Amino acid sequence: TRQFAIPITSVANSLDSLLASISSAERVFAILDEKPAIVDKPNAFPMPPIQGHVVFKDVDFSYVQGRPILKQNSFEALPGQKIGLCGPTGAGKSTIINLITRYYDIDKGDIIIDGHSIYDVQQDSLRRQIGIVLQEPFLFSDTVMNNLRYARLDATDEECITAAKQANAHEFILRLPNSYNTVLTERGGNLSQGQRQLLTIARMMVANPRMVILDEATSNVDTRTEERIQQALNRLMQGRTSFVIAHRLSTIRDADRILVIKAGEIIETGTHEELMAQHEFYYDLYMSQFKGKVAAIA
Ligand code: ADP
Repeated sequence: TRQFAIPITSVANSLDSLLASISSAERVFAILDEKPAIVDKPNAFPMPPIQGHVVFKDVDFSYVQGRPILKQNSFEALPGQKIGLCGPTGAGKSTIINLITRYYDIDKGDIIIDGHSIYDVQQDSLRRQIGIVLQEPFLFSDTVMNNLRYARLDATDEECITAAKQANAHEFILRLPNSYNTVLTERGGNLSQGQRQLLTIARMMVANPRMVILDEATSNVDTRTEERIQQALNRLMQGRTSFVIAHRLSTIRDADRILVIKAGEIIETGTHEELMAQHEFYYDLYMSQFKGKVAAIA
């Protein structure tokens, strides 16, 4: 995967190129070439401040006509809820996430946020309110402070520092050669992977989006760093409707609702406990990860 994680906030103009670069390298040009432009309706209105009630209503979607990817997807997220998405690679998790920001138009059904169909609102006004932290952090060759401020240029130094503290990034930033004025290299090469992740979480906190989308990194960080990242993410999700694509099921155990996706369909939904009690696909998925862990320890 490529290095990327950025709030959509304030970057609407270059959104296509930004979103393209989050996909795997080989897909970048395909998307740019094939993706039909999303056009606002003539009477589209600005999305009011998002409260976070999200409804997928019988959503059908295909990237290529005649090759359906999502079939009859329906679910609901209440304001402030954490929704976990899990399932095999290629099941459609990222696709669902992309549809929430209207990166693509759907074939059938509707996606409704706070009572407004996202197809009736101005797309920029929607995207500006949704923060996305994707698998790999993306940083600019600029100072730490400017990296933090990237998504909200009028944020004060103080606001950026507060966000860094919230994101457990302040401590390591202070230890950098020039603290907040340290210039980062492109791709953040002079930081550890964990530090890059904490920085991008801090940047998201500065942006203060109304909804959050996380594509959880399967990162090679030590347990302590992992805990700090998880704590920072929990703070970021607090009070905001959040969608989390989980690679390790442990990170969505506490989700208000888990969607189990398989071959483009939501085959099971519920809390971790409910899904475990069902003894079906999620149960098997969980047990296989759990067993893997036990085996690794043994
Ligand atoms: P997941 O996130 O669960 O791994 P995805 O949503 O990325 O799954 O993919 C779901 C399906 O859509 C897969 O079959 C994948 O090959 C296909 N797909 C994903 N992106 C594109 C694209 N840009 N164009 C065509 N097909 C795509």
